[in-house]
Amino acid sequence: MTAQITREKVKNLGDRKTEGRKPVGGKPELRGLTLPEISGIVAEMNEPAYRAGQIASWVYKKAAGSFDEMTNLSKSLRTELAGRASLNPLTLIRRSKSRHGPTTKYLFELQDGQKVETVLIGGSRRNTLCISTQVGCAIGCRFCASGLEGLVRNMTSAEIVDQVVQVNKQVMLSGDARPINNIVVMGMGEPLANYRPALRAVRIINADWGLGIGARKITLSTSGLVPKIYQLAEEKIQFELSVSLHAADDRTRTSIVPINRRYPLKQLMKACRHYTGATDRIITFEYVLLKGVNDRFQDAENLVKLLKKDKCKLNLIPYNPVQGLPYETPDEHRRTAFADALRAGGLQLTIRRERGRDIDAACGQLRLAESRRSG
Ligand code: SAH
Ligand code: SF4
Repeated sequence: MTAQITREKVKNLGDRKTEGRKPVGGKPELRGLTLPEISGIVAEMNEPAYRAGQIASWVYKKAAGSFDEMTNLSKSLRTELAGRASLNPLTLIRRSKSRHGPTTKYLFELQDGQKVETVLIGGSRRNTLCISTQVGCAIGCRFCASGLEGLVRNMTSAEIVDQVVQVNKQVMLSGDARPINNIVVMGMGEPLANYRPALRAVRIINADWGLGIGARKITLSTSGLVPKIYQLAEEKIQFELSVSLHAADDRTRTSIVPINRRYPLKQLMKACRHYTGATDRIITFEYVLLKGVNDRFQDAENLVKLLKKDKCKLNLIPYNPVQGLPYETPDEHRRTAFADALRAGGLQLTIRRERGRDIDAACGQLRLAESRRSG
């Protein structure tokens, strides 16, 4: 089924799918709790306050898979804690390493059997993890594997955070001494459609008592949910924001990013300018190059016109082909010509290298391949 952005889906991009989701077994999932919340549990158990830090450290930094691994807590305390909170790590069901580069893709199974994917992109200085925030996606961008089957459900904050915890564990087990130090929320799903769990998750990932990854090393990416961009501007956080632009005129953008019908470019740019003004943070615009769709000379001209007065960065991304979809990436010559036209117009840009094409390393592709394999 090709995802159409129906009225129903526009109304329900995700937020309502999480409200009221009960934690498994009625107990809160430890891996989605903040230090103050863990402190609350510790106080209820009449334990000294420092226990909260120990528990947070087991959960986030040491990736404990069970309460019994928390060896500096007494057996009776572990039993009591297990009565008040649960610990259900994601199950790793597939790991594929790219033959061409330092990219590894992980497919995780959630408690209800749903599958999500997480991609590790190693570098000399950075170990970047690309994390998912929803199972599927309601936005239905025409070129994207994640939106093909629509939105299944939102991920909880515990599930979002646990991707980092579990991959860190894998990295440590593999003997690589460098933990993940950069996060891009660019996996499956639209993070701002799962606003509160996604924000809670990145705050835990950022916190000293959590994963301790600096706010400037965490990037949220959105397809352009205008009201949520305004909301994000009020959060007073230092995370980076990327906006998936992909076209500089409404006709083209609506044809590939259907949310543009609801929030056209004029509104989107106004929201982005507000965000930059309110936070003093520079937005990065993402632009996936699709042959014959948005890589024409006219597109470059439109892009220059749209962005040249803004303090922003532009990131050109070669398209990673998705089986069954009619889009292709332009050849290198054409990509360079497009980039040159943008630079000549005064735009600052970077071109992302293609990584891990052999392991379907673009959002939603591994899950799609897996569901095709089993279906
Ligand atoms: N939903 C959010 C974040 C996840 S998608 C968003 O759209 O921004 C992260 C980025 O990957 C987006 O810029 C998206 O357009 C891009 N993308 C999706 N499918 C792709 C593919 N097959 N090849 C290259 N980039 C892709
Ligand atoms: Fe959803 Fe982003 Fe894919 Fe669009 S590109 S369908 S918003 S995950």
